[in-house]
Amino acid sequence: MRREMRAVLMGPPSAGKGTQAVRLAAEFGVPHISTGDMFRAAIAAGAELGRRAQGFIEAGKLVPDDVTLGIVCERLAEADAMSGFILDGFPRTVPQAEGLEDILRAQGVRLDAVVLIEVPEDVLVRRVTGRRVCEKCGRVYHMEWNPPPGSACECGGLVTQRKDDFPETVKERLATYRTQTEPLRDYYASEGSLVVVDGTGDPDEVFRRITRALGRCGS
Ligand code: AMP
Repeated sequence: MRREMRAVLMGPPSAGKGTQAVRLAAEFGVPHISTGDMFRAAIAAGAELGRRAQGFIEAGKLVPDDVTLGIVCERLAEADAMSGFILDGFPRTVPQAEGLEDILRAQGVRLDAVVLIEVPEDVLVRRVTGRRVCEKCGRVYHMEWNPPPGSACECGGLVTQRKDDFPETVKERLATYRTQTEPLRDYYASEGSLVVVDGTGDPDEVFRRITRALGRCGS
């Protein structure tokens, strides 16, 4: 399927935004834009952006809106984002949502949908604390239901726990989500672009729920 699609994927940490965003981007032939991935890449590269973001990320807090909006504004101006995008983990605050609206208005386009992936808190905690990621290829494992073959990934890279997946930080990230990101639910619901999807169960089923919901939105 290839058609214009401008969508935002929202949800608490470990709701499955990343997994679903990759698949949706492939489905619609548009780029997957994850602010979390952009920050992690900047940290790995030792870039100035990474130095500004690292402390906030490791404390489970949000990177300031001006920094985040700056990178998204630059990314959405790139040629591959002109026919659409799947935004993953952005916006996370009302000012970010307002900033996104300004960027899109200036481009003469609008969001087709905002998908909120809902998962109960006990499931989230179990998902996040078991998550392990390959430092080399980025492959994601889970210690309970998809463990790595050993301490290393199939590609030979080291499999580790993201610092922001440590239990104390997870609690902070969930609290940050509740206070700063959840208000976006009302923001987008009042605009009429919000669809809420059950994020529990098999990722294939969640994907089908999302594509069905998106089929009812946009162009
Ligand atoms: P994620 O991989 O989307 O869970 O993002 C990891 C971390 O990056 C978050 O816990 C935040 O510290 C930071 N981050 C990602 N996206 C944003 C955003 N839109 N606004 C502020 N901070 C963000």
